[in-house]
This record gives sequence, structure tokens and C-alpha cells, in this order.
Amino acid sequence: MQTIWAAQALIGDHWADAVAVEVGADGRIASIVENAAPTGTRVGALLPAPVNLHSHAFQRAMAGLTERRGPSGRDSFWTWRQLMYRFLDALTPEQVEAIAAFVQMEMLEAGYAAVAEFHYLHHQADGMPYDDIGELSGRIGAAAVESGIGLTLLPVLYEQATCLGAPLGPGQVRFGNDVDRFERLLARAGQLVAALPADAGIGVAPHSLRAVSQPSLRNAVGLANGRPLHMHIAEQTAEVDEVLSAYGRRPVEWLLANHEVGERWCLIHCTQMTPEETRALASTGAVAGLCPSTESSLGDGIFDGVAYLEQEGRFGIGSDSNIRISLVEELRTLEYSQRLRDRGRAMLASATASTGRRLFEGAARGGARAAQRQSGVIAPGNWADLLALDIAAVDLEGRRGDTLLDSFVFAGDDRMISDLWSAGRHVVRGSRHIHREAIVSRYRRTMSTLKDHL
Ligand code: ZN
Repeated sequence: MQTIWAAQALIGDHWADAVAVEVGADGRIASIVENAAPTGTRVGALLPAPVNLHSHAFQRAMAGLTERRGPSGRDSFWTWRQLMYRFLDALTPEQVEAIAAFVQMEMLEAGYAAVAEFHYLHHQADGMPYDDIGELSGRIGAAAVESGIGLTLLPVLYEQATCLGAPLGPGQVRFGNDVDRFERLLARAGQLVAALPADAGIGVAPHSLRAVSQPSLRNAVGLANGRPLHMHIAEQTAEVDEVLSAYGRRPVEWLLANHEVGERWCLIHCTQMTPEETRALASTGAVAGLCPSTESSLGDGIFDGVAYLEQEGRFGIGSDSNIRISLVEELRTLEYSQRLRDRGRAMLASATASTGRRLFEGAARGGARAAQRQSGVIAPGNWADLLALDIAAVDLEGRRGDTLLDSFVFAGDDRMISDLWSAGRHVVRGSRHIHREAIVSRYRRTMSTLKDHL
């Protein structure tokens, strides 16, 4: 049993002062006492630490390497993807683990307690499975044990290059499986996840309408069997055009018409939706997986957050390509994209909640739902996924409640995060991950080996 005492804390849906949170040896919150005398580990402000609902860990190693124009004079998502494929040819299992541990450490330092890893790198460079078909799933799990992050592993089904069933290109063979082999991979990944700490979980991720045929999508939905179902849905206009010409409907429109999309679904990148699609998705209870930094980096477009939140749509935040790991920057970018488009301010605030409060609380609750992780709210019985802010930070001086959250989201950065617990594991202390040195030096060695391929 450990006790955390906070000068102020967001408990359930209200702010409280002098809060003592008891965490059991099982990693769950055992009790919460308000107006308690200082005791145990003392922190400034305590918040629920969100789940990062979308990551491709290995892409962290490419950050900053794709900012030049190609020979055609115009760079795009599709040229970025070419570099990603080239880079993939070189990656070994040891390197995958080193990169994953590094980016998970950064996520914890940035305030995420857990990550839903959309894991599509399965096989050797020539497309042959490793002797253990779950080799790379195991590497992601091993990284999570080292970093202490809460893991929801989402093995990805990827079987074709286009909606019309074109075979995988050379850059894609490390991802590829038919449904039979995917079923074996998923079973193996399930065994590996069962050996991780009790808060780890597994789901299923049919990659996209592009990469999975209609019958295979049905199969994948069945294999999920009540567990989280994540899918890329409508990121790029070219992707929308492809689905429209093959299926006669836009991606979100097609999915909602052909599957019972509900609470266990998380749709990644709802960038390209019509007002009708936005309304329809909001009413399903599914989570929109928004990745504002990556969507900005790749030039995807702007999600219609204003209309979606007006309809009470659920959302969470993902770091996706991992070009930059910062929870507050994601939330800020989401709000600022709406302001730039609509020429207004406080676009995602509500009548009762400030912008920072609505964004932070929405992301914490939506991320937990998307990962089916009992967290997102500080409440007895939930995993102790907790983030502490240093209220001695200059920009937090004298700030309380929602104003404190606004200051963190709009004026702050990760240095304000003093401590983080993931299911009770106290892995960030004094703003640094407890294994930072070992993880960083292994990552540096990995990057120096990889640099000739980048
Ligand atoms: Zn993605």
C-alpha cells in the first residue's frame, strides 16, 4: 500500500483540496480521502493520467528525417510512407524493443500512463514470420515491462495494398497476414500479454478499409470478441476517394452502414468526415482517435471537433507517428486547429467547462474507453494511473481547478509533470523516468547503427 497526498486533485468530476489517495499493492486505487492531513508522497496537483490511444512505436526513430521535398517538388503523406518502408527493411527485433522502450519512457514523462500500440510490424524483412510468430509483439511487451507503461497491444491485420485487393508491395511484406495466420499471431500475442502485469490488455486492429477486405474485416471483428477494435478510417482525401470508388460510400459512412460500431470501437483519424458522418459517428459511442501532431505533420486536414463535441462525441488522443511526444501539445494543437479554421477562441470549451478542462477530461475518459482500461477518472477500484503537476512551476503560481488545467494545456509543457504512476508503478519522479539513463543510452546506440538506413 502506498499513499499519495495532493494539495489539489481532480477526483471523479470535481476538484478537491488536501486529498490522500491510497493505492493497493494490486495497482488499483483503494481509497480517497479529501481534506486529509499531509502524508506519504506529497505532490502539487493530481490528475488522472490518460491513455495514449494510438502509437506506432518504431516510427519514433524517423522523427525529423522527412522534412525535405522529394524529386517531384512536392512532399506528401505518400512520400513520407516511402521513407518509412525503406527504414523498415533494416529494423531488427532488438532495435524495435530499444525504440519502443524509449518512446514509452517519453510518453510516461509526458503524462500518459498507458499506450494502445497499433502494432503492425510482425515479420522479417522478406516477409517470412520469425520462428516465434509473436517475436515482435513480445518485443513491445518487453519494452513495456522495462518502461512500466500500461500496454494495450493491438495486433494489426494487414493483407492487401488497395481496396481492390492488390498484393502487398515490397515495403509492406513485414506487415502482411491472411486471416488464418493472423489468428495464430493473435493467439500467440494473447499468451505474451497474459504474462505481463495485470493491467495489460489486448485488442484487434484491422488496419484500414484499404488494407483489409470486407470478409476479412468481418472475421477480425469476430476475433476481437468484445475486446477493443481499432482501425484507421479517414485520414487522407486520397484514401476517401479510393474507398468511395471501390465501395460506393465514404469510409465512415460505409463502416457505420455495414458494422455495428459502438463503444468498443476506436476510429483513428476522423479527419475526413462530412457533417452527416460527424453526427452519425458521435451518436455511436465509439471513440474518435485524434492524433493532432501527426495529422499536422502529415498535412492530413482538420478534424471537425466543434461539431463532434456539440453532439457529445467521444474522443481520445494518440501520438501515432511519434514525431513528438507531448500530451499538452496534442490538446493545444487540437484546439488551435479549430481556432485557425473558424477564427474564434475557446472553440472546444462548453458552457460549464473551460477549454483545458474539457479537452483533458475528454481525452482521459475517451482514451480509457478505447483501451478498455479501468482508468480515466480518479476513483476507487480504477487503476492508479496518476499524473502530478508541480504547482511551484512559475506558470501555475496561484492557479487552481480548471484554470490550473488551462495553464498546463496552453502555457505549459512536460517539465510541469513531476510524477507519474501507471497502475501504481511510480515510474516518473522529479520529472524524470526512473530508468532514463539506461533506456536513452541503448536508444542512442540503436540510432547510431540505423543511421545509414535513414
Ligand atoms: Zn496510425
